[in-house]
Amino acid sequence: MTASLHQSAKTPKPDAGVPTTWLDGQWYERGQAMISVYDHGLLYGDGVFEGTRVYAGKTFRLAQHLDRLYDSAHAIWLDIPMPKGELAAITEEAVKRSGITEGYIRHLITRGVGDLGIDPRKSPKPSVIVIMDTIKLWPEEVYEAGLKVVTAATPISQRESLSPRVKSLNYLAHVMAKVEGIQAGADEVLMLDSAGSVAEASGQNVFIVKSGILRTPPPYAGILKGVTREVVFELARDAGYEVQETMLNRYDVYTADEAFLTGTASEIVAIRQLDGRVIGAGKAGPITRDLRARYQALVRS
Ligand code: PMP
Repeated sequence: MTASLHQSAKTPKPDAGVPTTWLDGQWYERGQAMISVYDHGLLYGDGVFEGTRVYAGKTFRLAQHLDRLYDSAHAIWLDIPMPKGELAAITEEAVKRSGITEGYIRHLITRGVGDLGIDPRKSPKPSVIVIMDTIKLWPEEVYEAGLKVVTAATPISQRESLSPRVKSLNYLAHVMAKVEGIQAGADEVLMLDSAGSVAEASGQNVFIVKSGILRTPPPYAGILKGVTREVVFELARDAGYEVQETMLNRYDVYTADEAFLTGTASEIVAIRQLDGRVIGAGKAGPITRDLRARYQALVRS
């Protein structure tokens, strides 16, 4: 999910003095924008967010990310206090002002300042934050070698309590899964739903390839409907690969010919092993590599 999980710096931090953050109508230098300790985004994780990439100075799929941001907000009864077009314009301005050409944008909408009670009606003014920053990526060789992944014991959050399709400020289940991966010495984790079906990684969607067919869990499996996942659908269609949205279990991943993760920050990255079982050839397979090459071409087109 987040850019900071990755390994090597690709672009330097913007110079001090460069406005990279927009908070409720004002521009701030990197790290200078502050919110109140009474903001319910902090107190209760009450808010939503997005992560969008900038390639060669241009936003990639900003409209889809803003659609998901506004849908996430709507689902938690949070009104973003400006139309989508205005937020898009602020975002484009953030990119321009920052001078960053290869970067990552974080949108945050918090419930805003209230009292210490949970009632959202006491927070009448949501805060809108746009952060333009650089991004750290996996080194290129990782895309070829693939990731070592383990299954997390922490399942994704129950669909019944909050749909995983809401990209909310409460990422604790995913953080706990990530911690398990770190402690196991893995690069990433596979999260299951409480019935044991494959859901997603700590910040990426999951695909497998079996006999030339791509398979990935459907949104109702309890996943974030990834923008990159949707781009992979388009690329696969163009390349003539069949894609099936279907429930998967770990057996399907262990016995796949190829497996990969998709996300805004990590793009398309192969899985070389899950829980000690080598997947396919134990490195990026031909379809994963083809899709990655197509993705690279698209983001720079
Ligand atoms: N699942 C989770 C939990 C995520 O945080 C992300 C990253 N936003 C994804 C999947 C991948 O979504 P996208 O392709 O839109 O980045």
